[in-house]
Amino acid sequence: MQSMTERHDESAGEPASELDAEGWIGGALRRPSPNQDDRPAGTQIDLLVIHNISLPPGTFGGGWIDDLFLNRLDPSAHPYFAPIAHVRVSSHLLIRRDGALIQYVPCERRAWHAGVSSFEGRERCNDYSIGIELEGADLIPFTDAQYRRLADCTHWIRTRYPAITRERIAGHSDIAPGRKTDPGPAFDWPRYLDRSQ
Ligand SMILES: [Zn+2]
Repeated sequence: MQSMTERHDESAGEPASELDAEGWIGGALRRPSPNQDDRPAGTQIDLLVIHNISLPPGTFGGGWIDDLFLNRLDPSAHPYFAPIAHVRVSSHLLIRRDGALIQYVPCERRAWHAGVSSFEGRERCNDYSIGIELEGADLIPFTDAQYRRLADCTHWIRTRYPAITRERIAGHSDIAPGRKTDPGPAFDWPRYLDRSQ
C-alpha cells in the first residue's frame, strides 16, 4: 500500500505548449487511458470543463488518480476505492498540486469525464468538451502552480479550439448540477479567467 501522505514524485515538467494534430499538449506527461473513444463525426469542440479530484478525497499525492483513469485502481487499498474501482472514467488532463501536467486522452478524442450532463440545453457534454481535472477538493484552495498551469493549458487549448470562448468554460457543477459539486467554492474563477484571455 502506498503512502497516503503528500509526495512529489514528479517534477512540474516542461511548460505547456502547442497541441499536435491529435490534440496532445506539448509538455504534458502522456499516460493514455483506455477510457476514450471517437467523438461523434463532425463535432465541433466548443466547451471546456473544469473539475477537481483527489483520492481518497482530500488526500493529495500518490498514484491513485492515474490508477483510476488507467483501470488499475486496487479496490482493497482504501475503503473509498471499492465502489469506484470499476467505474470507467478519464479526463483529457490532470494538473497536480505542484503543477505537473498529465494527459490521458488526446483532445481530438472523447474522454469520459462529464457523465450525465447538459450545457445550455445540450446534453452529453463529453461529446464536445475537453475536461481538465485539478488535483484538489472543493473546500481546499488550489495552488499557485495549478493556476499558472491551468491558464497556460487553457491558452493553448483555446488557440486550437477558438469556439471555446470565455462563456464556454464551465465547472462540472454547472453542467451536472445537483449531482456534482466540483471544482467547488475554493476554485477562484475570476483569478483563472482573468489570466486565460
Ligand atoms: Zn468532475
